[in-house]
Amino acid sequence: MADRLGEPLPTPIFEELAIIGVGLIGSSIARAARRRHAARRIVLADASVGVLERAKALSLGDAVTDDPARAAANADCVILCVPVGAYEAIGRLIAPALGPRAIVSDVGSVKGAVIAALKPALPAHARLVPAHPVAGTEYSGPDAGFATLFMNRWCILTPPEGADAEAVRQVRAFWEALGAHVETMNPAHHDLVLAITSHVPHLIAYNLVGAFRDATRIAASDPTMWRDVFLNNRDAVLEMLGRFNEDLTALQRMIRRGDGDGLFHLFTRTRAIRMGIVALGQDTAAPDFGRHAAEADEPIR
Ligand code: NAP
Repeated sequence: MADRLGEPLPTPIFEELAIIGVGLIGSSIARAARRRHAARRIVLADASVGVLERAKALSLGDAVTDDPARAAANADCVILCVPVGAYEAIGRLIAPALGPRAIVSDVGSVKGAVIAALKPALPAHARLVPAHPVAGTEYSGPDAGFATLFMNRWCILTPPEGADAEAVRQVRAFWEALGAHVETMNPAHHDLVLAITSHVPHLIAYNLVGAFRDATRIAASDPTMWRDVFLNNRDAVLEMLGRFNEDLTALQRMIRRGDGDGLFHLFTRTRAIRMGIVALGQDTAAPDFGRHAAEADEPIR
């Protein structure tokens, strides 16, 4: 099948790329960067020994380490691909190792908080260019990644005020090499746009999954039939709507109170429900998200 990512670049954008966190996103970057020769050398760091072993077995990079500082030491670009909550600690770890012209970037789904956590942890000379590839699946880990994940997806750069223009240009070129469409936004605007287009729908889907099986299929159904269903099953529907409202209120309260454990347990439960549906053969496990499986140029893993 044709390789839609394109030919390897004649000259790599980065001499050495460090990827901290080799999960779905980090491993996909490594695969795509290697395929396009967007970096001459790729060094991978992760906190998990199991992940590093998989990264080695899958030949995702030229070297692996459990020490982010070692990975960053010779890199001209370091990309953080870990959960946003780990940024500050990693920023502090890599800070003394960063070279004088090093670019620090990331892939986090929120940007204002990322800059607030990372900027004070990094030395003044570090060239910070945060990024958010708006691409993903519900799977995690190095085996879940694939080289075409970012193809034709948006990648939003949110350079802070005074960001180095050459660094922004290089990060843009890098994501374009991985097949993404690149847009630049201010971090607060990014967070607002993503809250509306992704975070709230995600939240609602998390909440919906407990009660219904397939929200998108339902939304496309015949209006006459459904008008009649609602008018003729009024009491039961109102009862379920009441429960839905209660769940949503509970979710709202957890967010307001910063109840991370509560959110984690709820999301773990909804994920298990989804996996159960797939295991029962009631739906496919293939990630789609608007991209038809046939368009992908390699098997989705
Ligand atoms: P993932 O598959 O769970 O991978 C994250 C990796 O980082 C794991 O291997 C994890 O190891 C490792 N890690 C965690 N804390 C670490 C630390 N302190 N030092 C070194 N390694 C550490 O997650 P992902 O889906 O790739 O997400 C990574 C980032 O991408 C997040 O910031 C997320 O906001 C962003 N993002 C995700 C998506 C998506 O759809 N998934 C889309 C766009 C952006 P352990 O497994 O041992 O914890």
